[in-house]
Amino acid sequence: MSAAAVAVPAAAIIAGCHPETVRRALRSGELHGKQRGKGGTWKMRPGCVKKWAANEPCKHQLPAHAVSLDAYRSSRRTAS
Ligand SMILES: [Zn+2]
Repeated sequence: MSAAAVAVPAAAIIAGCHPETVRRALRSGELHGKQRGKGGTWKMRPGCVKKWAANEPCKHQLPAHAVSLDAYRSSRRTAS
C-alpha cells in the first residue's frame, strides 16, 4: 500500500540534510514522525519527510485532523 516508514538516516538522505537536523525537527514536531519508546528509534513516512524538506505541512499536521477525529468518535456513538 503506502511506502514503508524510514528511520532518521534514510530521512536525512531524502531531505538532503544532516541526521541531527531531522531529529531536531522530529522533537519539535516540525517533522511528523513516531518514536518507539523514550529515546527510541524514530520512524516516519517518506512523504512526511519530503513535505518537511519542501517546507510544507504534511496532511497529518493539518488542523482538519482534530475535526475528523471528533467525527469518528460521534459516528461510533451513533453506531452503538
Ligand atoms: Zn505526516
